[in-house]
Amino acid sequence: MKITINYDGCIGAGECVMAAPEVFDLSDEAVVVLKDDSPAAALHEKVRAAARACPAAIIVIEDDE
Ligand code: SF4
Repeated sequence: MKITINYDGCIGAGECVMAAPEVFDLSDEAVVVLKDDSPAAALHEKVRAAARACPAAIIVIEDDE
């Protein structure tokens, strides 16, 4: 799994952080911070939930399996 984010579209809602705090954080300016762009398999389901929850739909997941 490889994650990319279209940072310009982030509205700082924080749904991604709630869904997968291991992978996403928010900066002081309320823009998403990607802590890990290729998370371990155990986190994939949480990352998919984060992508679904993002109201701006800016979390893009590329699967390699
Ligand atoms: S859920 Fe989407 S819009 Fe909200 S902080 Fe995360 S990436 Fe940004």
